[in-house]
Amino acid sequence: MASNNELFERAARVIPGGVNSPVRAFRAVGGTPRFIARGEGAYIVDAEGKRYIDYIGSWGPMILGHGHPAVLEAVQKAAVEGFSFGAPTEREIELAEEILKLVPSMDQVRLVSSGTEATMSAIRLARGATARPKFIKFEGCYHGHTDALLVKAGSGLATFGHPTSAGVTPGAAADTVVLEYNNVEQLEAAFAQHGSELACVIVEPIAGNMNFVRASVPFMTAMRKLCTQHGALLVLDEVMTGFRVGLGSAQAHYAQLIPGFAPDVSVFGKVIGGGMPLAAFGARREVMQHLAPLGGVYQAGTLSGNPVATACGLATLREIQKPGFFDALSARTRQLVDGLRTVAAENGVPFSADSEGGMFGFFLLPELPQNYTQVMTTDKERFNRFFHAMLDAGIYLAPALYEAGFVSAAHSQADIDATLAAARTALR
Ligand code: PMP
Repeated sequence: MASNNELFERAARVIPGGVNSPVRAFRAVGGTPRFIARGEGAYIVDAEGKRYIDYIGSWGPMILGHGHPAVLEAVQKAAVEGFSFGAPTEREIELAEEILKLVPSMDQVRLVSSGTEATMSAIRLARGATARPKFIKFEGCYHGHTDALLVKAGSGLATFGHPTSAGVTPGAAADTVVLEYNNVEQLEAAFAQHGSELACVIVEPIAGNMNFVRASVPFMTAMRKLCTQHGALLVLDEVMTGFRVGLGSAQAHYAQLIPGFAPDVSVFGKVIGGGMPLAAFGARREVMQHLAPLGGVYQAGTLSGNPVATACGLATLREIQKPGFFDALSARTRQLVDGLRTVAAENGVPFSADSEGGMFGFFLLPELPQNYTQVMTTDKERFNRFFHAMLDAGIYLAPALYEAGFVSAAHSQADIDATLAAARTALR
């Protein structure tokens, strides 16, 4: 049995940094990444046979936990029928219908294979539909690794201290306007300056790539109003929040807070694939008509709407619609967050935490931050020590303080209790 250390050394010889996605490398927190051999419900087991309670869930997709029987069965059946045809299948229609049923702001949806592809295509669609070049994004939001979106981005870019990627030319980012999250005045000023040139605003409604920061109601209200006034499209990036913070996603949550609220374009990923490569973007029919083969905005994919991925996504979406699913998941996640807050208070550690549905975040700060600059004031060394103490105790949190966490339906009361017991020791 190879150890994590041996595997990491071997991986680093053939894969840059030993990983296929940067944050997996543990560079920010130090130490050796765990090589995962298998998942079982709420747990993952590493190459050395050590078991962890998993609060990453593949960074969001595994809302049912690992190896849910109904999902496994659907995937196995689909795999026998064929992996990929490059031709339409009925299951793509079923998945599209299922997504549209749950997200009334969209009439049509296009399936792709990653969140990066979906946001990239949503931006191109917005530019094509409005015939305008510019768009607004917010500091600390991550929308995948398309050039024009890799500017002052969160997630791994924040972790490694290079919020704007090398290799992105000034030309590629010239039409990207970057503003502070939750800053209404900056948003108004940007619309006053660029309004007629703005194709869209893209935003994470609850930003999960600078840990967990909610868009405030005034901020979201202003965004919606300004987009409408200036003929720009509001693109909600729900790759992380979609079918994760609630059955209607973050847009349903904001529609409860802001009467009549709806985005123009929505982007999904993670949960809709249930752990398989699958993402989507959608909008009202008149916007989607701009996409090829109907319109002039080109977008395509060899594996788009993949038969095995759509089977996995469909089975997952069916499970999360069962009565009481989100009530139970939200309650479990709140138990974790409330418990962590209590344990931190017992130990006199400055701490704040928040959750929505099965997504949560915590900060070693006395108050919840509202933007990227505030998030950056967290004590990184303290976080790293906490992370490693928890990992040693068998609790697998995100190996960076700029990432949200995820609870699955497989997490039990005993798992939360074990996590809080470990946190009590770690924070001491
Ligand atoms: N948008 C958001 C909000 C995300 O969190 C992510 C990935 N974490 C992406 C887009 C990109 O998705 P992917 O990694 O599937 O390309």
